[in-house]
Formats: sequence, C-alpha cells, structure tokens
Amino acid sequence: MSKLNECLNRIHNASLPDLKDLERVLSLSGKDELNELFFFADDIRKEFCGDGIVLRGIIEFSNFCFRECFYCGLNKNNRKLERYRMNKDELLKAVGYLVSCKIKTVVLQSGEDSGLDTPWLREIIREIKSSFDIAITLAVGERSALDYKVWREAGADRYLLKIETSDEGLYSSMHPQMDFKQRLDCLRVLKELGYQVGSGNIIGLAGQTLKTIAQDILFFKLNDFDMIGIGPFIPHQNTQFGGQEKGDALLSLKTIALTRIVTRNAHIPATTALGSLDKDYRVDGLKCGANVLMPNFTPQPFRKLYEIYPQKRCINEPVGACNFCMDDMAQNLGRFIDYSKADSFKQGRVNSNV
Ligand code: SAH
Repeated sequence: MSKLNECLNRIHNASLPDLKDLERVLSLSGKDELNELFFFADDIRKEFCGDGIVLRGIIEFSNFCFRECFYCGLNKNNRKLERYRMNKDELLKAVGYLVSCKIKTVVLQSGEDSGLDTPWLREIIREIKSSFDIAITLAVGERSALDYKVWREAGADRYLLKIETSDEGLYSSMHPQMDFKQRLDCLRVLKELGYQVGSGNIIGLAGQTLKTIAQDILFFKLNDFDMIGIGPFIPHQNTQFGGQEKGDALLSLKTIALTRIVTRNAHIPATTALGSLDKDYRVDGLKCGANVLMPNFTPQPFRKLYEIYPQKRCINEPVGACNFCMDDMAQNLGRFIDYSKADSFKQGRVNSNV
C-alpha cells in the first residue's frame, strides 16, 4: 500500500480526520498522486452512492438581494443588474416543464429578497406538492425560524444554505452586516425542523488557505450534512472581489474528492460554477466523488439576469436543453441518470413524502 493510500484510508475511517492529513492531500500536485486520490474518491462514491447521477432542477425565481457579499453579482450594490421576481404563474409553469422532463426535485433559489413574502412561498410549495410528486428544495438564504417552519409544514423537504467558508474571521471579512453565528443557527434550526440540509463552500476566496479548506471539510463531517456543494470562485466585475483571480479547478476537484472520502454518502453536485471555468470540469467532478447535476430550468429572460458570476454555464440556452447533455455525460462515464427524488442517503432522513 502506498503512503498516500494509507493516508486516504486513515482519513476515510477516522471519526474526525486529522487536519494536517487533509491539508497534505489538498496540496498534492503530482499526476500519479492526483489520480490515486481521484480513483479512491470515485470508489467511495460507487460504494456509498452507486452509479446513479441524481438530477436537481433549479429555478432561480428572484435576483433581488439585500446582502452585500463581496463575491456575488446579486449584491445590492450592483446597480447595473436588472432585477426580477417571477410571479406565481411563471414559477409554476417552469415547475411543470421541469416535471415534464421527468425531474423529481426542484430547487427554488433566489437572492435574499426582502420582498419574498412568506405566505406567497407557502402557497407555491402547497400547489407544487398537491400537483406533482416531487421533492422541493429551498435556497433563499437566512430567514426566521418561523419562516422555515411555515415552509417545512407546507411541504418543503430540503434546504440549501452554504456556509461559504467555515472560518469565522474570513466569513466576516466578506459578508458585511452578516453574522457567522446566525448562519450556524439557521443551519441548526433547519435540521431540527427535519429538512434535509445542504451546505458547502467556495474555493478560491481571498484570504482562504489550504488550512481553512481543510477546516471546511471537517465542518461538513461534524455537521453530517445531507448535501454539500463545492464550487470555484468566479470573479464578477461589479463586486469588491471583481479584480481577484478565479478559483482553481484542480483545488476544487481535490476538495470534492476529499469531501467524498470524509463524508461518504452526502449528495455532492458537480456544480454549475465548476462547469463555468475555462472548460467544463463537471465531468471531472463526477469522476472524483460528485454524484449530482443541477440542470437549470429558469426561463428566459430571467435566466441571464441571475448573474451571481459572469459566463455562467448555459446562460443563453433554452430551458430543457440540459437533459440531453446530461444523459450524454452519464453515458460517457458508464453511469446513468437517476430520475428519482433521491432523498438523503443518511439513515432516518428519508422524508420527502411527508
Ligand atoms: N440567497 C441564497 C442563494 C445564493 S446564490 C443563499 O444565500 O443561499 C447561491 C450560491 O452561489 C452561494 O451560496 C455562493 O456559494 C455561490 N456564489 C455566489 N457568488 C459566487 C461567485 N462569484 N463565484 C462562485 N460562486 C458564487
């Protein structure tokens, strides 16, 4: 057994892996060693998640945001962005189209929109649940415990809220007027309410180090998230971080691989950001631990306005174009598209039928 193999086994089997081990693996650069890491992660993916590639259709229903995150194009100070909020009919129509493509999970995402009315979203959730047999994932940011409860009771199954970085100092440096503890609190409340919870980070943020990324991976392990989204930072010119370098594809892939090895059966997407660099790295992501793809079902003209970063994948595509592309991707990998709701693999959390 090679030294690296020993290290990966140690990381995989530890109840809490050693930070130094994680940092060491994140710093690998040799071709053979990287291949060994990626094969190891792919084996774990196969053992714990199987060969199905799960689809989560995403609808970005509002790009209003009152936050000022230094990396995100939706931040409220970006006055150049034309803002939109889809109405109920537009949203339900997009969901209907997604269902007609056999997809069984919809992710309803928006900026942190102060105009997002709690009962309005409750009604949308109820209507979707009564019309279709699909799981609903919300990704609308930090809200009150009561809002989370209302939406959960209306039928929402899952919630995505990325921690972005688990380093409190770093977090504060790029999220003015936001509180790290508050974010942790939201994640805790979501879990208590019985949501399947997703979190994740951005790779390549200013001030981030291999150590803070290693800490992110430990954070994922400690919180036993059902879903973990990892994507490279892509600079947007109308943000404070507009002049920074984009995140490194290889480091993103290493983080995905290690997160798979450590967390075993979390759902891990090959993110849209990973597909929006100099080339489409989503296939590479699927080969080193990822098991989820997120086709975009936001209708035009809204889709091109949900510009969290520029040159986002498929920004000018018509809705539905993703399906063929994803089938192809799966086939080329010798895998298949899993058209089920694909609940959490974590025991006791299969709850999208409540
Ligand atoms: N308001 C929602 C959705 C935010 S956008 C929420 O708070 O969860 C979804 C994700 O896009 C964010 O969590 C962040 O990780 C990612 N993102 C934003 N700007 C980005 C950028 N410039 N590069 C890469 N990812 C970015």
